[in-house]
Amino acid sequence: MRKPVIAGNWKMYKTLSQAVDTALALKPLVANANHCDVVIAPVFTAIKTVADRLEGSNIRVAGQDCSTETEEGAHTGEVMASMLRDVGARHVIVGHSERRQFYSETDETVNKKTHAGIKSGLTVIMCVGETLDQREQGSAESVVSQQLSGGLSGLTASDLDRIIVAYEPVWAIGTGRTATPEQAQEMHAFIRRVFAERHSAAAAEALRILYGGSVKPDNIEGLMKQADIDGALVGGASLKAESFAEIVNYRR
Ligand code: PEP
Repeated sequence: MRKPVIAGNWKMYKTLSQAVDTALALKPLVANANHCDVVIAPVFTAIKTVADRLEGSNIRVAGQDCSTETEEGAHTGEVMASMLRDVGARHVIVGHSERRQFYSETDETVNKKTHAGIKSGLTVIMCVGETLDQREQGSAESVVSQQLSGGLSGLTASDLDRIIVAYEPVWAIGTGRTATPEQAQEMHAFIRRVFAERHSAAAAEALRILYGGSVKPDNIEGLMKQADIDGALVGGASLKAESFAEIVNYRR
């Protein structure tokens, strides 16, 4: 039985005090959410304080990205996965489409970050997803398959326990246009099949696959009813404690 994960990606929003206020407002609202893992990803500068203030709660804190580097050194502007772990993060998001699109991240970069996260004891939420053009050209599955094999290359069987895949069709991110539960299910089932072929049936069965792309309180229930949807990665609707809590506490 896969435990769902509901993760909030706060992107480049919120000052430190706003991040703390949101996290503290969220805490009582999701305190009884034992049915899923709850994760929030504030900006780097808020991770330590938010993680400290949430200590003892059921909310885990994630980094939104990490460096490909795993040794300290002259890499201005970079933050290592082990440094995220050091300040209280337990997860890291890698390969978000905004990183791929605006910061030219390739599958190779994503793969290095995935290894760095795992090496540092973090659970890695690796994002994959096709653009609208790619979907319309009928290449959504080949794009996602390529992102999966590139991003997960060189991982051992035990590393796979620390992987969560987030399927985020680029055309659904921040657009208000969600994939239908059926469209999402179809791709999630495909991802699980690819995972089984590349790794093992057992690893595929255990893999948690999150859907991301305009998830809101009013569409989470339909998505979570699908057999291969094991949670959500939520952007906009995670910025307010109340709406994120509604998503976490979806009707089961
Ligand atoms: C995201 O940033 O990962 C995301 C899915 O954003 P939104 O929920 O706003 O579409």
